[in-house]
Amino acid sequence: MDYTNITVAGSGVLGSQIAYQIAFKGFNVSIYDINDDALDRAKERIMELKPHYQADLKATEDEVNKAYQRISYHSNLSEAVATADLVIEAIPEVVQMKLDFYKELGKVAPKETVFATNSSTLLPSQFAEATGRPEKFLALHFANEIWKNNTAEIMKHPGTDTHVFNDVIEFAKAIGMVALPLNKEQPGYILNSLLVPLLDAAQQLLVKEVADVQTIDKTWMVATGAPMGPFAILDVVGINTAYNIGLAKAESSGDPTFKKIAETLKTEYVDKGKLGRATGEGFYKY
Ligand code: NAD
Repeated sequence: MDYTNITVAGSGVLGSQIAYQIAFKGFNVSIYDINDDALDRAKERIMELKPHYQADLKATEDEVNKAYQRISYHSNLSEAVATADLVIEAIPEVVQMKLDFYKELGKVAPKETVFATNSSTLLPSQFAEATGRPEKFLALHFANEIWKNNTAEIMKHPGTDTHVFNDVIEFAKAIGMVALPLNKEQPGYILNSLLVPLLDAAQQLLVKEVADVQTIDKTWMVATGAPMGPFAILDVVGINTAYNIGLAKAESSGDPTFKKIAETLKTEYVDKGKLGRATGEGFYKY
């Protein structure tokens, strides 16, 4: 099935980027959010994306303006999805919020419309029944700064129809993504299943005083040919995020190494305003 009309539900950090990328590739996009204030913020976010497309993708003024004009804004869900072939959900990462949303969406969307969640940490099987159409539901997960970090992880749950899965893979390619299919549910998809253990191991080596930041990064880079080591990656992710993750792991596991990681990140980095690339300094200076 060829998709023409796409609705993006939730127009925050990721939703606004998803909507604009899809419009940039020539599709009609309807944005749905809870009220006019949220929609106004989405319009501002999307306006701010235009210069990135011009700088990073060498898009022309005409191209970025035409993309903007392909987007319509709605606070009424039925209206937002009336002609949708695909609804991409990017509302907050809160289970009950998503369950309520899918129950409502399932009632008002045309019966052939496919639904995809952009959730980073929740599995589609958690919401499949609530959609009322589990066979037309799956995960389609994008990365922040979608126009340049153009991965699309497409993940089935056990009830997803194979045709729907294949259609969404084709759609992801059509909107300029590198399509990465996952045939089974996996928390963290492929990327975070690989990346999180690497970043954890690097931080453990550091707090156990096995080696310093530069030596750990250099080992990884020279041995594997990777352009960045784990601490340089953490600077991109943001040390605040790394700290929050470390703290959550320390609390849930009781593991003293995670506790030491969280303490080190807080006292040596977060409290000193060294939050990574965004602030000009983290493990490295920029
Ligand atoms: P965000 O908080 O920036 O945006 C959420 C948006 O959803 C807001 O505009 C809010 O008004 C809207 N919203 C709230 N309740 C709603 C409802 N019931 N119906 C419609 N809209 C509603 O969040 P975000 O960072 O864009 O994350 C959204 C989803 O994308 C999450 O599932 C998250 O896991 C996923 N994600 C985020 C990132 C990231 O880097 N931020 C990356 C990949 C995936």
